[in-house]
Amino acid sequence: VDKQEEFVLRTLEERDVRFVRLWFTDVLGFLKSVAIAPAELEGAFAEGIGFDGSAIEGFARVYEADMVARPDPSTFQVLPWRGSPPATARMFCDILMPDGSPSYADPRYVLKRTLGKAADLGFTFYTHPEIEFFLFEDRHENGRTPIPVDRSGYFDHTAHGMSQDFRREAITMLEAMGISVEFSHHEGAPGQQEIDLRYADALATADNVMTFRVVVKEVALGQGISASFMPKPFTEWPGSGMHTHMSLFEGDRNAFFESGAEYHLSKVARSFIAGLLRHAGEITAVTNQWVNSYKRLWGGGEAPAYVCWGHNNRSALVRVPMYKPDKGQSTRIEFRSLDSAANPYLAYAVLLAAGLKGVEEGYELPPGAEDDVWSLTEGERRALGIDPLPQSLDEAIRIMENSELVAETLGEHVFDFFLRNKQAEWEEYRQQVTAFERDRLLPVI
Ligand code: GLU
Ligand code: MG
Ligand code: MG
Repeated sequence: VDKQEEFVLRTLEERDVRFVRLWFTDVLGFLKSVAIAPAELEGAFAEGIGFDGSAIEGFARVYEADMVARPDPSTFQVLPWRGSPPATARMFCDILMPDGSPSYADPRYVLKRTLGKAADLGFTFYTHPEIEFFLFEDRHENGRTPIPVDRSGYFDHTAHGMSQDFRREAITMLEAMGISVEFSHHEGAPGQQEIDLRYADALATADNVMTFRVVVKEVALGQGISASFMPKPFTEWPGSGMHTHMSLFEGDRNAFFESGAEYHLSKVARSFIAGLLRHAGEITAVTNQWVNSYKRLWGGGEAPAYVCWGHNNRSALVRVPMYKPDKGQSTRIEFRSLDSAANPYLAYAVLLAAGLKGVEEGYELPPGAEDDVWSLTEGERRALGIDPLPQSLDEAIRIMENSELVAETLGEHVFDFFLRNKQAEWEEYRQQVTAFERDRLLPVI
């Protein structure tokens, strides 16, 4: 039993923990949980807990059914919404094969592998997500348009506003679980919220994003409302993104910072951005994995639609936030297409892989786009070499299929499963006849 495991076992007694939930994530980014009794935990640390891998989305088919979940003691937290005592705690797990080797189907392992590659080059990868989502009056029923909890907009503060009470409780709960929140506010659409987490290494951030989704949904249901991370619930309002700020550190030095360089961006930062831009099309199916994701990325609602970068340009895919002269350490870039319905482990893995490719190959950064790229004509954009992002899941899948970078990063098993699953989603979607088509055609044809 190592130190961290000892700490967990001691805390179980001190806090009177009766249930320990073991969490892991399937390939599409859905959380899985199995509760064990505290007496089982020592065994779980040593050998893991067996489960039927063929029943988990993306673990199936490519593997034998028997798989093992081994809890990571560094992720131990008591769940504040379960009350105590007796309390309930959780840990994230690594997924292993019966022989103890890591499972290639485990998204957490996909990210760990990519972080290992960054570490070989001397880098730690930090991320800081801005998570947007909607609050609705009640739970969704099929066929009904959801009703947002308020009619407020960006940064609005209204007396007795539902949203303030919600954010206050959600943030208190996140902090009780060791997740620091930097910033929170009402977003642009009715009922839309944003909560920004403090930066952390990308594995911790991905775990935090998974926890965040659970906390937000729990708090909403506790207040008699519901929350959703759907990328674009309404035609007429902006969608929900998960803009992510990224930086590479070498030890405790920010490798993106170079005093006196343009925007204080180092060579490493410039070629990292170039990597993101050059491979943006290939990774979009992972950063925006649903048919619905592409309804957000058409060019309005402050979501990006074109592959370019800019300094404080909110229509760009990559934005370099305003530099604070005293804060070289905070130099970072913001990637704006990612949505909060993505699998955070896979999304961070492909973003890091694309950026690192740029660094390794020394890609040149094309000139930034300081104009509002939405307002340019198609021809002007072409002249500037600005390509559109994939415009549908179908297009994104077709580009990803030919990507060596994504195949290598996800590993063959996750890559194949992901493509097959997303092709099936597209096939089903393209057969749907929508209200839009009926309303357009029935009255006139
Ligand atoms: N909701 C917008 C999006 O879908 C972003 C708004 C903002 O700039 O924070 O990306
Ligand atoms: Mg926002
Ligand atoms: Mg942002």
